[in-house]
Amino acid sequence: MNLSSCKIYIMTDMEGVSGICSEDQCTRDKPGYDQGRIWLTQDINAAIAGAREAGATEFVVNDGHGSRPHILLDQLESEGVTYEMPKSGAQYMPGLDETFAGVFIIGAHAKAGTRDAFLDHTQAPLGIFDFQVNRRSIGEIVQVAIIATHARVPVLMVSGDEAACREARHDLRAVKTVSVKIALGRQRARALPPVVAQQKIRAAARQAVRSRAACRPFPIRLPAEVKIVFQRTDVADLHTNPHLKRLDGRTITYPIRTARDLLWV
Ligand SMILES: [Zn+2]
Repeated sequence: MNLSSCKIYIMTDMEGVSGICSEDQCTRDKPGYDQGRIWLTQDINAAIAGAREAGATEFVVNDGHGSRPHILLDQLESEGVTYEMPKSGAQYMPGLDETFAGVFIIGAHAKAGTRDAFLDHTQAPLGIFDFQVNRRSIGEIVQVAIIATHARVPVLMVSGDEAACREARHDLRAVKTVSVKIALGRQRARALPPVVAQQKIRAAARQAVRSRAACRPFPIRLPAEVKIVFQRTDVADLHTNPHLKRLDGRTITYPIRTARDLLWV
C-alpha cells in the first residue's frame, strides 16, 4: 500500500475514554462532562499522533457517543483530519469507504450484560438486552467491525476499559487493544492517569498501522438475520416497520442484505 495515502477512520465513544470513571463524566450538563470531553479529544489526538508516526496521513473522526457533539473541534488535531457524526441505518459511518486502511475505535465499552464492564450496554442503555447477528451475540465493537466490512476495511485498534478490550480481542483477529481502566462494578472504574493512557494509545496506534496487514475485515455471512431482544415490551412496540418481524413481546428480527444495513432498524 502507498503510505502517502494511508487513511484511518476513527470511530469514537465516551464510556471507554481515559480518565472517565463515572457516568456523569460522559453525560451532557453533568459534573465532570467538560473534563470528559477534553480527555475524549486528547485520546483521539494520541491515536492520530501514533498513526502518523507509522505513515498515516488522513483521518476521519466520527463523534459517536449519544447526544453528540462531544469532541472539542478547536482542540482536535487538524492536519489531514475531518469530522463527522453518525446517523442510524446506513449512515453510521458515512465517510468510510474502500480507500481507508483501517478503523480505530476510541473510548469503547463492552456489550450489554458483560460482567465487570464499565457502563456496559448496546445502543441505548435501557433499550437493548441482546443484539444478535446470525445467532451470534455482539456489542457495539463488532457492530462497527461489521459495518466496516461493507467497505472491506478491518478494525485495527480498540481503546477502552479492560472488558471492551477483552471483547475486541475475542472477536477481532489481530486487533491491537489499549486498556485504560478496569471496572469496579458497572458504575465505577479504576483508571490510568490520562497522560499515561494516551501514551499507550499513541504507541498502539503506531503499531496498529504498521502491522495492519495482519488484520482482516470481520467475516459475516450475507444475507444475515439480525435479532434484537429489548428489555421491555413497550420499547419493542416502537418498532413497527413492516420489514421487521415481531417474534414475541421483547424480540424483533429483520433481514439484511449488506453489512452496512446492520443498524437499519
Ligand atoms: Zn457512548
